[in-house]
Amino acid sequence: MDWKDTAQQAAFRTEVREFIADAFPDDYQPDHQSEQSLEPEDVAGYNWTVDARSDDADRQRAARDWAEALAQKRWVAPHWPSEYGGAGLGPIEELILQEEMMRAGVPTVNGIGVNLFGPTLLQYGTEEQKEEHLPPTARGERTWAQCFSEPGAGSDLASLSTRAVRDGDEYVVNGQKVWTSLAQYADWLFVLARSDPDAHRHRGLTLLMVDSASPGVTIRPITDIRGAAPFAEIFFEEVRVPATNRIGEEHRGWYAAMATLTFERAGIGATIKYEKALSRLIDSLDDEDESRFVRADWNDSLRHEIARRHTEISVLANIARFTVSKQAAGEVPEYEASVNQLFSAELHQRMARTGAKMFGESSGLWQREGAPIGAEFAHMRLDAVAATLLAGTAEIQRNVIATRGLGLPRR
Ligand SMILES: Cc1cc2nc3c(=O)[nH]c(=O)nc-3n(C[C@H](O)[C@H](O)[C@H](O)COP(=O)(O)OP(=O)(O)OC[C@H]3O[C@@H](n4cnc5c(N)ncnc54)[C@H](O)[C@@H]3O)c2cc1C
Repeated sequence: MDWKDTAQQAAFRTEVREFIADAFPDDYQPDHQSEQSLEPEDVAGYNWTVDARSDDADRQRAARDWAEALAQKRWVAPHWPSEYGGAGLGPIEELILQEEMMRAGVPTVNGIGVNLFGPTLLQYGTEEQKEEHLPPTARGERTWAQCFSEPGAGSDLASLSTRAVRDGDEYVVNGQKVWTSLAQYADWLFVLARSDPDAHRHRGLTLLMVDSASPGVTIRPITDIRGAAPFAEIFFEEVRVPATNRIGEEHRGWYAAMATLTFERAGIGATIKYEKALSRLIDSLDDEDESRFVRADWNDSLRHEIARRHTEISVLANIARFTVSKQAAGEVPEYEASVNQLFSAELHQRMARTGAKMFGESSGLWQREGAPIGAEFAHMRLDAVAATLLAGTAEIQRNVIATRGLGLPRR
């Protein structure tokens, strides 16, 4: 397949580059104390939310200025239809936009709202719901968190036990969610709950939009291995939710939730992140300051390992392009999204291991200062544990590829 830009795509790429050079606020700087602050190559657009809610007024303003500039171009949610604040871009242009943002090291905005919630509402929501929620989300003004997992239901999501009981024009929600990314920064939550306990377990679930300020909602951040709090647990106690906040049909929430997961796994653009990390690793060999950290017995086998990572990054680029070209042809990627998610997550782990091998005992240095490449690979290694859990574990992705991709029997 020929992945080269057409003349039109090349012109769009130039437009994006010029826009970023012109519009990205000079004073939007990362907070080195906060693991989630301005991670510029954050492909999922998660970490901008942390800056937009930062206690540091300057950082908060800079993050919001960036969202506003992007929103004026309709590039916060570039793939959404224009009537809801998007630019109606096709998948290839969306990829180009993401690639150029990653290359320039500027964050995408409002990732969960834009990439998970929005496409789900576009597919399953009513016109009123779309008009109410999509425009503020596409301006970065309304943030969202995806409340699916529970202490007893992760891979086996259909066994969840949070209840939504219909009471007139409302549902009453009780239960607990866990590992909810950035819930403490979310204005709204989209919550999968059991509405019919007697039905077959996939058929008794309903998807609801819940205002996070509703009485009875308690959100407690969870600290991870890096000391950051990228997710939270949420308790729902007698939370009253208008029935008009239901996405799709009652008891049919499973199907909308599965669509959300496909959007999540099809997420593209990680390639550039790995490309840049690998070139920083290679550059450190020639850098006076950094090369002192490289282990003395650096040898050919490590050189080969770096070459393998380089090849794998190209493979991922091809997988991403393949997924996007399917979307461009009007098809919905299914098992391809799992191939993308799995290969990317495992590459993340291999990259982190290569960094650890290269810096030997210095790879354990944790403080950003006085560590190889600002401890980038030490942090990547800790974060790598989560890579094959979030958005579905490696085993679950393999199950999807086996059954839906290869057509193998379930048992
Ligand atoms: C950083 C991070 C962010 C997250 N963000 C969110 C979020 O925003 N919203 C949300 O709802 N959830 C979120 N999650 C939760 C994530 O979706 C779950 O952790 C994941 O689905 C796994 O569920 P579990 O943790 O309950 O593990 P389990 O499902 O209990 O799995 C335990 C182990 O058993 C294996 N296993 C389970 N079933 C099978 C099977 N059928 N075949 C083979 N092996 C199997 C798993 O692969 C795993 O190794 C996040 C998780 C992380 C780490």
